[in-house]
This record gives sequence, C-alpha cells and structure tokens, in this order.
Amino acid sequence: MRKIERLRKEATESAELRGHTLGRWEHFDDNALAKCINPGCGACAQIIPRPMPNDIEIGGTAVALDCPVSYFDLATSHLSEVPVTDEQGGDS
Ligand SMILES: [Zn+2]
Repeated sequence: MRKIERLRKEATESAELRGHTLGRWEHFDDNALAKCINPGCGACAQIIPRPMPNDIEIGGTAVALDCPVSYFDLATSHLSEVPVTDEQGGDS
C-alpha cells in the first residue's frame, strides 16, 4: 500500500472515531484533504505524506475534534432513551 493510501485510511478511521463522515478525498500535489459531509460540521482532515519538520502527516479538525453533528445525534438519542420522570406531586 502506498503511503498516501495508508495515511488516508488512518485519517478516515480517526475521523470516524470522532463521529465524522468524510467525503471525497481531494488531492493537491502530494497532499490530500477531505471534509466531513455531516450537515453543519465542515471539519476537514488533511494528509501530508512528506511533512515539513514543524508539520504532521495527518491533521485537521476532523481528527482533532469530535463531530458536533454526531455528538448532537448521540445526545438526543441518549435523552430519548431516558424515561422522563415527573417529580411533582410525589411527596405529600
Ligand atoms: Zn463532522
């Protein structure tokens, strides 16, 4: 496997662990960039196979931060599973 393919796989896995859904990889010279396609997110993952000394091979908000969209989905699905209890009128 070429290095860029390995890095792409790693970046995709990292982004998915954070809840992102990466769209198509776009290539710029040796580098590649993919954006999260979840509505309202827009985080991106970036691959630099031959990084500068002060740069990294895999970077971008999609591998550094959780996807707000999937976090929201997670939060709401979690809430819907919790029974709503009415605390009023219990103690007289
Ligand atoms: Zn996202």
